[in-house]
Amino acid sequence: MDIEIQLTHEPITEEIQPLTRPAAGAWLEFRGVVRGEEAGQRISALEYEAYPEMARREIRRILEKLAEKFPCLAARVIHRLGVIPVGATAIYVGVASPHRGEALGLLAEFMDRLKQDVPIWKRRALPDRVGRVTPCAPGVSASGGQGTARPALKSLDEALAEIRLRCRPLPAIPVPLQEGLGRVLREAVRAPEDLPRCDRSTRDGYAVPQDDPAESFLVVDTIHAADWKPRSLQPGQAVRVATGAALPCGGLRVVMQEHVERQGDQIRILRREDSANVRSRGEDVRAGRILAAAGIRLNAGALALLAAAGRATPLVSPRPRVCHFTTGDEIVPPGRTPAPGQVRDSNSILIRGLLQNFSCDLQQAHLPENFERAKLEISSRKPEIENADLLLVSGGASVGERDFTRALLEWLGFEIVFNQVNLRPGRPLIFGVCGPRAAFGLPGNPLSHFVCFHLFVAAALAKLGGQEPQSFLRGRLAEKLEDQPCPRETLWPTRVAWRGAAPQLRPLPWASSGDVTCLAQTNALIRVPAGRGSIEAGAEADFLPTTAE
Ligand code: AMP
Ligand code: MG
Repeated sequence: MDIEIQLTHEPITEEIQPLTRPAAGAWLEFRGVVRGEEAGQRISALEYEAYPEMARREIRRILEKLAEKFPCLAARVIHRLGVIPVGATAIYVGVASPHRGEALGLLAEFMDRLKQDVPIWKRRALPDRVGRVTPCAPGVSASGGQGTARPALKSLDEALAEIRLRCRPLPAIPVPLQEGLGRVLREAVRAPEDLPRCDRSTRDGYAVPQDDPAESFLVVDTIHAADWKPRSLQPGQAVRVATGAALPCGGLRVVMQEHVERQGDQIRILRREDSANVRSRGEDVRAGRILAAAGIRLNAGALALLAAAGRATPLVSPRPRVCHFTTGDEIVPPGRTPAPGQVRDSNSILIRGLLQNFSCDLQQAHLPENFERAKLEISSRKPEIENADLLLVSGGASVGERDFTRALLEWLGFEIVFNQVNLRPGRPLIFGVCGPRAAFGLPGNPLSHFVCFHLFVAAALAKLGGQEPQSFLRGRLAEKLEDQPCPRETLWPTRVAWRGAAPQLRPLPWASSGDVTCLAQTNALIRVPAGRGSIEAGAEADFLPTTAE
């Protein structure tokens, strides 16, 4: 079948010559026109956007495939892009075939496939009167593609604000303490009682009345750590107590056994101590006080606190389920020697390591650099992807001929919130949402990857986990940061030392977003404002810590 494809910003003319073929008995024409209504609102025009190269390839591939089923002779497809007024043609398809049946069949299936598989989508709907713009509903498209494209380039603050707004905390679940390490606590836990619950001995020894000046005492009982034997002590009476034992009454002190000589039931105190050797009831915490606030990440110490307070199944955030795909046919596993043109995969292990701090369940896989084959691979992993709270795709986030991450996310039903941030390194950064699920397309270069993770992915994970994202802190440069003014904000790899009054920042050398050498040293990113250039030693700067060190 002969195929002609045009993607054009020009109006599609009313008169289009049929593709005449000697054997043709039918010439079928279809025009899709822009309707005056979108999502229930009156509109004046629709704006279409496309990945032209990829769209052309997809259209051709679909037509060739369909021609096996419907043996047609020729097809012409014209799709208009840009702003298309109501009533004007957005898509024209003409098909020549021996009989009408093949042309009708091919056209009907082609239009369905165009909507599903071709990266052409409605960017926005223009209002029917000035000042009101109707965003297109995600997943709906009159002629092709899915989803909504929003203003593409965001500032760092705008991008972070979108992420904060759109990522909501996952519903909290109760888990046993053994599974609590690294989880975010989602409830405030209060002390249910005084801790310790009663006065306890801190020594193995003899409890005697606090103010009794006697040197000799009669031992009237023995109290082990697990015993509860309330009683009063008369002057001259003592009880043998173990470390941790609950004292029988108030107003006692404990004499260490090393300072006592015992004969039968009698003891003689050899040395008087200053300390009472008693942990008083409630000295650690009083009943009702907050032991652990909602939003903290549970470490071993916090878990011990919850255990002591009897909170055996605290409410915590579930482990975020993360699916991470690498892309790029040049990528080989780290254990393999790369051929010229190939690159070892460092992003998989980078992401795995960075996610450790967020207590995630991670699935990782590689996608071929062919949109069709990538979709097949994705289809075989649909359940994992549909269950994932967060989808990460490394590489292919830009607008190169083979960069399909955005199209892939849209194909999966994600609404693209933005696809570029005015940032160095890390400008091509895609953020999308699909209901409660979030997705990022991260630039493949390792340093961009690292920066985008800490700025954006970490913020999304914090929100999903019910925490506030880490904010920028103020530090002081210990050395000059040498740079040319850049129109983008820069996140500069840095070593921070937490000594002295202000954190000390030492900018690390880096040449390009492809650098890997500075990653191991970096524990912070200095935020260099757009157009700033160098920052002198001693000056203050904002920075984002990237590790807890
Ligand atoms: P991309 O974002 O796909 O245009 O890739 C940008 C650069 O990052 C290219 O040089 C890629 O080879 C490199 N890159 C992409 N993925 C990885 C990866 N998993 N590990 C290391 N480098 C990568
Ligand atoms: Mg790539």
